[in-house]
Amino acid sequence: MEKNLNRIASKVGNKERISRSDARFLFTEASDQLLSELATAAKKRFHAGDVATYLIMAIVNYTNVCVAKCDYCSFYRLPHQAGTYLLNFNQVCERIDALRAFGGTLVSFNGGFHPKLQLKDYAELFSRVRERYRGDLEFFEMTVAEFMFSCKLSKLTYDEGAAMLRDAGTRWVTGGGAEILDDAFRMRHSPGKFKVDDYFKAQNAILRAGLGSTATQVIGFDESLDERLNHLEALRTFQDSAPRKLPSFLCWTYKPWNNELGGTEISSREYLRWLAVCRIFLDNFENIRTSVLTQNEKGLEGLKFGANDFDLPTEDEVTQKAGATITHDFERILSAARAAGFKVQYRDPFPL
Ligand code: SF4
Repeated sequence: MEKNLNRIASKVGNKERISRSDARFLFTEASDQLLSELATAAKKRFHAGDVATYLIMAIVNYTNVCVAKCDYCSFYRLPHQAGTYLLNFNQVCERIDALRAFGGTLVSFNGGFHPKLQLKDYAELFSRVRERYRGDLEFFEMTVAEFMFSCKLSKLTYDEGAAMLRDAGTRWVTGGGAEILDDAFRMRHSPGKFKVDDYFKAQNAILRAGLGSTATQVIGFDESLDERLNHLEALRTFQDSAPRKLPSFLCWTYKPWNNELGGTEISSREYLRWLAVCRIFLDNFENIRTSVLTQNEKGLEGLKFGANDFDLPTEDEVTQKAGATITHDFERILSAARAAGFKVQYRDPFPL
């Protein structure tokens, strides 16, 4: 075992790519200390080791109507169920104003697969919002998953849909809604959402149109290690030949409350170990982001396991409904980062 760990450590030290089996071996056999050291070495290819960047942001959930029926979701309501909502323009602006009062600079829109919203409806809403907050804020305007559904509903190809958003002024979507990019996982839990190949076709069209996007992963459902690795391998392969690079990868953890799937939350230690594997394996991603949203202060330990960046979220109904707790005591969170030995710096949104 020692010999194998030394071999992988040499690869990381020499800035060589590690294999899938190396990643598996690290995750199952390496000590926390070694994972932290290797992830920090991999991070230093891109970033000064002792600086962590962050921004304050809101995830504005403009509708909870969704027909995808993912069994791990605590947020959605079917169109005929009680408790559905669709925010109007003024209600969306109220949420954004609340973010601004916290000094936030990024709005990420995230809703559901609403069966009556065409892509042009999204484009119009986002245009009005951008016009109102012109230049003050950056917007992530849909997740890739929502984009895919809305294109299909609107009878648009992904190229046509991406062009429509771009021409309406959209700059970014996010890679959100990816959870675990493995078709067996998707069949078990969200057969109505998308197939993995299709997800990457949509990402490709978005990037080709000149928009920006991101990469994400959620762990801690019932996925196997192979399924997690399939996700990372697919992302790394995609990034190698993507029309433009995805600037960041964010991993967070599933919260098991108030949904059909349920289960038990994974430990923070498992999250941190996996985050280190992500940093080491995803050698073509500059920014690896740790999750305060699902890990609170413990997420800041992720800065020692390869992450260089994090959000301070002001709201996200999707994870809050599933059991996440959000604090607005940002100083407390930032103190945890400082206590972990990092200088924290507020950053601008990533350049397009
Ligand atoms: S995770 Fe997203 S797509 Fe799945 S049911 Fe929830 S809102 Fe719908």
